[in-house]
Amino acid sequence: ESVAMAPFLETVIQPYSEIADSQDKHFEENIQLDRDLVIDKQRIHQLIVIFLDNALKYTEAGATISFSARVVNNRWELQVKDTGIGIKDQDKAHVFDRFYRVDKSRSRATGGNGLGLSIAKWIIDSHRGKVTVNDNHPQGTIFTISFPLTKPKK
Ligand code: ATP
Repeated sequence: ESVAMAPFLETVIQPYSEIADSQDKHFEENIQLDRDLVIDKQRIHQLIVIFLDNALKYTEAGATISFSARVVNNRWELQVKDTGIGIKDQDKAHVFDRFYRVDKSRSRATGGNGLGLSIAKWIIDSHRGKVTVNDNHPQGTIFTISFPLTKPKK
């Protein structure tokens, strides 16, 4: 499906700017993707939701969550940054594994199954995408997801 990306992304992130507001967090967006792309709309929506849910889950009040979209090196790229608890180097390679959670405590207030990012990875693969995870200095996490400017696999 050919999708006008900027309005689509605006619609996806809109609720998150409101949730962030209600949690006393700052939400920043920078969408520079003024074109139509052939994507699986539902899956890309789900993908963004996974990263934004996590960004809200692993940050405290006062944090900043940023979402950006742009074209770089013949690929389109999404970036989700937060100023939260961050991910240690030894955990970075594992966060996309099924059921992997950095804090294994069942009583953890933020709950979850450790499935979100494994689903995200599957969606990224099905769109021939790449994902990297980096530290956001001085605190937090940056996920960068990029896709070729071509059609997804059937
Ligand atoms: P759920 O299945 O509900 O999404 P989850 O958040 O535990 O549960 P994933 O989304 O797969 O599962 O994330 C895996 C782990 O990666 C998390 O448990 C958390 O430890 C870590 N993680 C993910 N996103 C962030 C983030 N933005 N900041 C810090 N840690 C994160």
